[in-house]
Amino acid sequence: MFNQLSRRFAEASKSQKFNGMILFGLPGAGKGTYGSLVAKDFKVYKIAPGDLLRKILKEDWFKSDPHYKTIKDAVEGGKLVADNVVLDLVSTEYNRNAANYNGVLFDGIPRTVRQAQLLKEKFDLSKFLLVNVILREDILIEKLLGRRVCDGCGKNYNVCSIHKDGYEMEPLLSAKDDNCEVCNGKLIQRSDDKEDIIKKRIEVYKQETFPVMAELQKIVWRTMDFEPKRGVKDYPLLKKSIEDLK
Ligand code: AMP
Repeated sequence: MFNQLSRRFAEASKSQKFNGMILFGLPGAGKGTYGSLVAKDFKVYKIAPGDLLRKILKEDWFKSDPHYKTIKDAVEGGKLVADNVVLDLVSTEYNRNAANYNGVLFDGIPRTVRQAQLLKEKFDLSKFLLVNVILREDILIEKLLGRRVCDGCGKNYNVCSIHKDGYEMEPLLSAKDDNCEVCNGKLIQRSDDKEDIIKKRIEVYKQETFPVMAELQKIVWRTMDFEPKRGVKDYPLLKKSIEDLK
């Protein structure tokens, strides 16, 4: 099955349909979770600047870097990190790792008009598929407050259970209680998953990122909306929609 999907993605790329994906969506919509599943099923390389930033901030050697404090304050305060810093991280990650994949999947970039311009210089966005993950704002705040992440590998879990207004989201728990079922790392709450910072992140997203999405829709190959009211149980719908693209 996996090989079959990979082949289909490769065929799509070869026939010049699409060779990359961009996931849009407010913080907490589930871009990380669905992005990881798509990356695995279609053998595309997922690049999430948020993950790269959190990783670099944990490195001892980076703590003496002149940009350390500015970046840390931005990430912890829900503000955007400078465009050039983010683009450098993303380009390095892409150049190092993406060669043997069927394409690249961006989760959390571009978030500003400038980032979209810089990405456009490096990638042919007319061959990209844009997936817009939609979730009601009160639901995503609840989800972010319940999110737990692995301190080691960054895998996402969630302790909240939402059953209202057509939303049926079960908790996403680790089989190892407070430790990650993949790497045994400790499960923690992200420092920016606090209510005031979540609201700030949503505001920044609406101001800076919504306009970018409108612009990108004019350039990319296709745009697709995905509203996962049942959480990961709805992922097969997204997978099928991507497979069925003609
Ligand atoms: P995320 O993991 O996508 O929720 O991002 C967490 C934080 O990392 C954001 O609140 C920003 O501080 C920073 N960040 C992530 N992606 C970007 C980006 N494309 N541009 C600027 N800052 C970003």
